[in-house]
Amino acid sequence: MSKKLIFATHNMGKVNEIKQILGDGYQVLSLKDVSFTDEIEETGTTFEENATIKAVTLSKELGEIVLADDSGFEVDYLKGEPGIYSSRYLGEDTPYEVKNRTILERCQDAKDEERGARFVCAMACAFPDGRLRVTKGVIEGVLAKEPAGTNGFGYDPIFYLPERKMTTGEMTPEDKNAISHRGIALRKMVEVLKEEGVLHG
Ligand code: IMP
Repeated sequence: MSKKLIFATHNMGKVNEIKQILGDGYQVLSLKDVSFTDEIEETGTTFEENATIKAVTLSKELGEIVLADDSGFEVDYLKGEPGIYSSRYLGEDTPYEVKNRTILERCQDAKDEERGARFVCAMACAFPDGRLRVTKGVIEGVLAKEPAGTNGFGYDPIFYLPERKMTTGEMTPEDKNAISHRGIALRKMVEVLKEEGVLHG
C-alpha cells in the first residue's frame, strides 16, 4: 500500500515536483484532492512561521501528515523586500512584468556589490500526533540589470545567477528544479521524513 502525504497547495506544479522527488510508493495529494477550499491566513513574520501555520492547521483539521511550504524573493538593496510578502508585493493582481520593472527601477542606483538577492523556501511537516519538522532552502544570486527569460514564474526574469550567466527565467524547469530553493528544502525534508520513519531508505 502506498503511503499518503498531503501537500498544502493548490499549485499542481509543486505537487508534481514533490512526486518526482519522492518517486513511486507515495501518494501525494493536493488540497484540491482532499476538497479543502478554505483560506488559511499567513499571519507569521517569517517563511518558517507561515509554512508551519499552514501545515499545523491542516494536519489538525484532517488528522493526516501534512507538508506545506512558504517561499519568496529577497533583495538586499530593498532591505529584504519583497520577502514574505512576495506574492502580495505592489498588489496581488499587479502583473509580474510591472513588479519586476518597479524593483529594477527602485534599485537603479545600487552598486554591483549591493545587488545581492535570493530565493528562500521553508518547508514544514506537521504530524497528527503534534510532531513538527521544518527545513529551509536558499539559492543565492543577484538582482539582474534587465529582465530576461520567459520560463518559470514570478521574479524569475530578474534573478540572475552569475555562475550560470543567466536568470532563473532563462533556465529549463529541470535545471531550475535541480538547484532551486524549493528543491533544496524538499530534499532536506525527504531526509527528515526518513528519520521520522515516514519514508524508507
Ligand atoms: P509561495 O508562497 O511559495 O506560493 O510563493 C510566494 C511568492 O514568492 C510567489 O508568488 C512568487 O512571487 C515568489 N516566488 C517563490 N518562488 C519563486 C520562484 O521559484 N520563482 C519566482 N518567484 C518565486
